[in-house]
Amino acid sequence: MNGTRTGTVGSTHPVIVVGAGPTGLLLAGDLAAAGVPVALVEKRPHKISNLSRAFGVHARTLEQLDARGLADRLLATGSTITELRLFRRLSLDLGTLPSRFPFLLITPQYEVERLLERRARELGVEFLFEHEVVGLRQDDGGVDLQVCGPDGAVVTRRAAYVVGADGHRSAVRRALGLPFPGVAVIKSLFLADVRLAEQPGSVLTVNGAGDAFAMIASFGDGWYRVMGWSRRHEVPDDVPLDLDEVREVTRRALGTDYGMHDARWLSRFHSDERQAPAYRVGRVFLAGDAAHVHSPAGGQGMNTGLQDAANLGWKLAAAVRGWAPDGLLDTYQAERHPVGKAVLRSSGGLVRLARAQNPALRALRALVSAFAAMAGPARTKALAQISGIGYRYPAPRGAHRLTGTRAPDVTLADGSRLYEALRGGRFVLITPKADEAEACGSRGAREDRLAVERWAGDRRTTVLVRPDGYVAWAADVTDAAAVEAALAAHLG
Ligand SMILES: Cc1cc2nc3c(=O)[nH]c(=O)nc-3n(C[C@H](O)[C@H](O)[C@H](O)COP(=O)(O)OP(=O)(O)OC[C@H]3O[C@@H](n4cnc5c(N)ncnc54)[C@H](O)[C@@H]3O)c2cc1C
Repeated sequence: MNGTRTGTVGSTHPVIVVGAGPTGLLLAGDLAAAGVPVALVEKRPHKISNLSRAFGVHARTLEQLDARGLADRLLATGSTITELRLFRRLSLDLGTLPSRFPFLLITPQYEVERLLERRARELGVEFLFEHEVVGLRQDDGGVDLQVCGPDGAVVTRRAAYVVGADGHRSAVRRALGLPFPGVAVIKSLFLADVRLAEQPGSVLTVNGAGDAFAMIASFGDGWYRVMGWSRRHEVPDDVPLDLDEVREVTRRALGTDYGMHDARWLSRFHSDERQAPAYRVGRVFLAGDAAHVHSPAGGQGMNTGLQDAANLGWKLAAAVRGWAPDGLLDTYQAERHPVGKAVLRSSGGLVRLARAQNPALRALRALVSAFAAMAGPARTKALAQISGIGYRYPAPRGAHRLTGTRAPDVTLADGSRLYEALRGGRFVLITPKADEAEACGSRGAREDRLAVERWAGDRRTTVLVRPDGYVAWAADVTDAAAVEAALAAHLG
């Protein structure tokens, strides 16, 4: 704790989000969009960095951004790839994904942050840069957050709820006394952002050869991200890295270094695989890297954090606004912890196997080849998981088969799309044409949290879609009493 003075400021905030990374920015924006006053506390000074960790945005993340009217703006910042070429032998066809976004968007993490920050500002989020959370205490009525400001003074800010989106070294997680069990899966990866004299054939180029591995991705603005690893040179993160080493490993892995020059950023890092056992303790939640970290294989970290935020935002807003059904906040752990665990398993799998076998890369390629040889349905399932569209949430026993599944972007009777209808941040009830009047009758006092739409075609199913694009309830035969019961159960 750096501060010398102490004190308490202001009245109770409904929600304080800690950390203005992608997870915190999306969450704070969603809360503000739902009319919840929210403060975002960030220890860094405000400056948009041109350095980037993540660079891949998957289909489900783009669908979530589409549900906020942001996807097209992000698409304009990068390049898309429909084919993932891995280890020369393997090609994965993202073009078959049943999504409006059947591709991987390659764009730097700072573009995602820039977009989400602009939205959060427009919606009125209170930004507190150069404010570091150094401790917290909670009681039945709220959370006291100790925040050290730019002048070194530590003040207490009280909130009804706090979300720790403060990254893998999360001060919030530590203040809760939660462990972060796991292992280091790979040490001594390097990263570099460079210019190239020659263009690689595709937006993403990956290969392993002998004991070296390298990947080059184009940001689309003349800069390229290189990530690599060499078994011959596994060193601690603080050993200096120079461009010659990056060139040499890239040549061994890809056969050429494409005339790499002018590195604007060079860094070594190691990759951990860890997950907090609880994503909620009382009034405090964890999201993003604060809750889980994985190997960069599969490019899942930022994407998973953004899905955490999309899951939690509307639930917290419901709690603050007083209509959350009992147990709603507990579903955050029930839904997102298993997804985090699955991502840890899949993204770490390739790397763990590589480290366990000797020579490592032979094993890695063997696994990738096995993946390549998968039969159609298994491969489709794996692609659905990588892209994020394949996850479903637990459904109560006896629930309709659609309950808990991701709602696809169906066309509605007026020609608009479901993900456009979700831009209001409300539940969307989609009814067969004949039942519309009855369903509308149930809307009544819930207009602030429910929109009612009709299917474009002749369908009998009635579906209630949550604000985060998952099916809350469905029925094949609609009757007004059943719809009303479902609305009462989910929207209070
Ligand atoms: C090399 C590499 C490549 C990657 N590639 C991909 C990829 O392609 N796709 C992908 O999805 N993910 C990728 N990731 C992972 C991705 O970068 C992270 O998962 C993502 O940044 C997590 O976002 P976050 O908002 O949860 O946390 P962060 O981005 O870490 O943000 C946390 C914020 O909290 C602030 N903070 C920390 N402590 C405090 C405190 N005490 N008080 C106030 N503020 C605090 C920090 O300053 C920071 O701004 C990659 C990571 C690496 C290292």
